[in-house]
Amino acid sequence: MDKKLITVTSPLLPDLHDFHKVLQEIWDSKWITNNGSFHKQLEKELAAYLKVPYISLFTNGTLPLITALQALRITGEVITTPYSFVATTHSLWWNGIKPVFVDIDPTTGNIDPDKIEAAITSKTTAIMPVHVYGKPCDTKRIEEIADKYGLKVIYDAAHAFGVEVDGESILNAGDMSTLSFHATKVYNSIEGGALVMHDERTKKRIDYLKNFGFAGETEVVAPGINSKMDEMRSAYGLLNLKQVDAAIEARHQVAIKYREALRPIEGITFMEDMPGVRHNYSYFPIFIDAEKYGMTRDELYFKMKAENVLSRRYFYPLISEFTTYRGLESAKPENLPNAHKMADSVICLPMHHELSEEDVTRILGTIIR
Ligand SMILES: *Cc1c(COP(=O)(O)O)cnc(C)c1O
Repeated sequence: MDKKLITVTSPLLPDLHDFHKVLQEIWDSKWITNNGSFHKQLEKELAAYLKVPYISLFTNGTLPLITALQALRITGEVITTPYSFVATTHSLWWNGIKPVFVDIDPTTGNIDPDKIEAAITSKTTAIMPVHVYGKPCDTKRIEEIADKYGLKVIYDAAHAFGVEVDGESILNAGDMSTLSFHATKVYNSIEGGALVMHDERTKKRIDYLKNFGFAGETEVVAPGINSKMDEMRSAYGLLNLKQVDAAIEARHQVAIKYREALRPIEGITFMEDMPGVRHNYSYFPIFIDAEKYGMTRDELYFKMKAENVLSRRYFYPLISEFTTYRGLESAKPENLPNAHKMADSVICLPMHHELSEEDVTRILGTIIR
């Protein structure tokens, strides 16, 4: 008999009866989208929960990236990381911007600030880093470089929901930060996302841009997109916000068990918590040294799969390896040795709020030999 399938993630779902109650309210009001009361309430509660001054909701986590670039009038070249989900670089493509890939720091997986300056040209207008796996970038160093060269900084913070450094939200770094509320993320609204900004003027402009550029009934100020979150997803998001802390704590407990069991295993390394950081345990990447472990990353990945444990090789292949981008000078593997090494050795273990003690033991049993 096949063992129960363990998936890499499992969506945080609100109680169905609670959701049914809010659906009834929406049905009664007949207001199903366009800045309704649940939409407004979710923006308010998310801003408070995330400790950010202003937030604008979107239908997914990709359109806020595209819209932030448009709002800040970013052109030419943008420095970014190849070690991410493709949407990061795709957002540049959608704005006609040339991505310039910079290698990552081998310990955090985030863009290496020491390598940014060498990639700046007269066409560079911004930096788009990613807080990979929710691990905070070196935001201070990035800000220093951006200020020195007059560049904007847009953080893809899709993995960094609720992450804080010394009690301050990581989402307040840079000019703007984006979030994804996709089903696979720590916090989800089925599909959804948001843009975090520092001031009301910017929020107003973003709210125009996500609504076709409408600034009132008859005035259109820019070629905006349609990315308004509807009332069903907003109401669902409000319910999930109440249970996200418990979900993060459940993930934390899984991370503790993984670390304890994997620490003595030769050829396997993982990331530790960083001092002063409130982590969200969105992913649990491990890195395989084939020689020491006695098995390659792919061998282990397929062995786990054969035992009905689904892990993921995030982020393999690198974005710079996809056909759209691999012709770029900065996409050459020689330019990105650390990123290639990480992409070739990583496995993200199953990580979600519903993993039982038994599941964790079974997952570890596929790795520990
Ligand atoms: C999930 C993700 C996105 C895209 O979010 P969607 O909501 O799926 O559009 C962007 N960047 C990163 C790093 C992601 O992980």
